[in-house]
Formats: sequence, C-alpha cells, structure tokens
Amino acid sequence: MHYLVITTGSCGNCYIFSTGQDTIIIDDGVTYKKITEKMAEHEIDISTVRALFLTHLHPDHSKGVGVLQRKLGIPVFISSISREKNESIMIRQKIEIDDVLTYDFGESIEVPGFSVIPFSTSHDSDGSAGYAFRSEGVDYFLMTDTGLIPEAAWAFAEKARVKFIESNYDEEMLSSGPYPEFLKRRISGEYGHLSNYDAIDFAKKTSRHGDSLYFVHLSANNNSPQIVREMARKEIPSGIFCKVCERGELFEGFQDGEEVC
Ligand SMILES: [Zn+2]
Ligand SMILES: [Zn+2]
Repeated sequence: MHYLVITTGSCGNCYIFSTGQDTIIIDDGVTYKKITEKMAEHEIDISTVRALFLTHLHPDHSKGVGVLQRKLGIPVFISSISREKNESIMIRQKIEIDDVLTYDFGESIEVPGFSVIPFSTSHDSDGSAGYAFRSEGVDYFLMTDTGLIPEAAWAFAEKARVKFIESNYDEEMLSSGPYPEFLKRRISGEYGHLSNYDAIDFAKKTSRHGDSLYFVHLSANNNSPQIVREMARKEIPSGIFCKVCERGELFEGFQDGEEVC
C-alpha cells in the first residue's frame, strides 16, 4: 500500500491510498493539477482512482472536488447529513450534487480494493466524518477535524494497524498566540480540532507494537512539527512507527515499527 499525503493542514488536505491496482482519495482541498502531478511523481496511476471520500465540506477539504468529479467521473461519498445541510456550499464549490453518493455512519461501503466504514466526528461542519477502512487484509484509520474523540473512533483505531490522526494545536501556543479569543475557543472547543495532547494520548491508548502512526493537520500558527515529534517521542512506546506529516510526502508500505519519529 502506498500512502500519499499531498498536503495536510488548513492550507488543504488530500490523502491518497493506493494498492497499485486500486486507489481511493480522502478529501480534496487541492487543485486537480497538484493531485495529478504528485500522483505521477510517485507513480500512482490516476486511472486506478475508484472513489473520493470527504470528511466534511470546509474548503481546505473540498475545494477541488468539482473539478476532480468532472475530470475523473468517480463517485464522491459524503454523509447524508452533510449532503442535506450543506447544499449551498456544494453549489458554491461547483460540486455536481446529483452525482454525490451518501451514506449513514457505521455503514460499510465497498469500492474496488477497499471496504470503508465512516464514523461521525465532532466539528463545526454538519455531518463531518472520519474513516476506518480495510484493504489487502490491513485495517486503516483516518480522523481529522474533530474537537472530541468520538466514541466509535476508539474501536476502529484499536483495530487499525495504520492510523492518520489530527494533531492540530499545542495548547500553550494556542492560548498565548495572536488569535482572537473567539477563534481560540472555536479551535479548542468540542466542535473544533484535536490538541497534540489529545491526539497523542488517543494514539498511545489505541496502538500496539508494529503499528504506524501519522500525525496530520497540524496548525501552521499554533503548532510545530518539532513539538509534536518531541511529545510523541516521550509518550509513544518504542516499536510503534511514528511520523509527523508535513506537506507532499509519500509513505510506502507497512512500516516495521523501528523508526520512531
Ligand atoms: Zn481542516
Ligand atoms: Zn474543518
């Protein structure tokens, strides 16, 4: 399995998972040009893309969807709540609404090469989702943009051997930083984002020897990869592969748990 994080954070999010034969994309907050360039650079054939799954409709996760839909003609999956509550956003973003497929949380979605189960997250975008999925006998987990850890996420993360988890902000940097008070409250609130502390604690409690952890969606203003790396090094037991994702990196295969941050 190849994992390609094209970009992650408030500038845009796009995560690609490919078996070589079949590929899924989670979120599309980048241009079509960027997706095609990066995939070509890492030798993932664009014709193998089977579906796009959206976590939610904030522009950093969805601004490229309309173009991708028209270029590739692939199914786009979103929660039924998100589809119902965000029609005006979808129109504004030129998403072909009639071609969007909806699901209920907990339902299993089968696309070639992947079996995907969405779960509800806690964010200020109605119907936001995280995803647990299985491919080639391995379980994966991806959760970003959530102010709280949803109940369902625990069992999915425990089952998954490879996890992508939001580690958005350092509590100290956010509280002493330049953001206005209302924005600080939004970010740290129950419909905001996960702190480094919560992300690493969750990762630690749901992981075991040989697992791979990728920390994503770091805030550019209220966090630094260095801080997350140091916290993870302290908290995550050895034998668990751990990586803080910055933009445009390719991660290949099933990590063996030797490298820690
Ligand atoms: Zn986001
Ligand atoms: Zn968001």
